[in-house]
Amino acid sequence: MIEIKNVSKWYGSFQVLTDCSTTVNKGEVVVVCGPSGSGKSTLIKTVNALEPFQKGDITVDGISISDPKTDLPKLRSRVGMVFQHFELFPHLSVTENLTLAQIKVLGRSVDEAKARGLKMLDRVGLMAHKDKFPGQLSGGQQQRVAIARALSMDPIVMLFDEPTSALDPEMVGEVLDVMVLLAKEGMTMMVVTHEMGFARKVSHRVIFMDAGKIVEDCKKEAFFGDTASRSPRAQEFLSKIL
Ligand code: ATP
Ligand code: MG
Repeated sequence: MIEIKNVSKWYGSFQVLTDCSTTVNKGEVVVVCGPSGSGKSTLIKTVNALEPFQKGDITVDGISISDPKTDLPKLRSRVGMVFQHFELFPHLSVTENLTLAQIKVLGRSVDEAKARGLKMLDRVGLMAHKDKFPGQLSGGQQQRVAIARALSMDPIVMLFDEPTSALDPEMVGEVLDVMVLLAKEGMTMMVVTHEMGFARKVSHRVIFMDAGKIVEDCKKEAFFGDTASRSPRAQEFLSKIL
């Protein structure tokens, strides 16, 4: 589904990603963790071509991001992305937030977009809030709307970048619950998170990054169970976080 092949990236002379390679298969949930500044956000943003890279290649569903013939806006519309900050349009209602990209990017009719958007809103348990504005919702509710908005585009894969780290602790659970549901339904997901409970419960694989490199890429059972075999950096990280 996603193939990251020998990707390297520089900001000026600073190398932020060094020869990163991994594959995310269909239906797989891969958690990406590692210390601050290790390149997790940069890596995940390269997957939907929000960040260009100088070396290597990434294919999404067999389509190469670096191929100049690839229709990037179209490819990007198939890759759902949820960030730390909810990034809903504050001046648009929940329903309008859900339908805008469907209409503008996918060319759906207003009715079609509304039907799809409200179905997704129902899935995240927020149907009662469809006419509200983002400012009238809690952080956790806004993040669930952001997830519903991404799902409305019929993504083939969902990328999450620390979706719960800006939330008050009591709201983390409701967002994780939605993500667990998606994982159980078989959605292909790449999730940057420090929520090791989520990683243990639903991920299939864990990628650990340090200083722009993928240091560990293993099944979650090995990552959490066989910590003695992990790299010293991963062990140090785990000792702080578990
Ligand atoms: P965090 O856990 O804090 O979110 P991260 O693992 O997501 O960190 P990135 O945001 O990918 O890390 O950043 C990796 C490195 O690249 C950091 O050293 C950061 O300072 C640097 N960096 C990020 N964006 C830019 C930019 N636009 N220009 C220059 N350097 C950048
Ligand atoms: Mg980050």
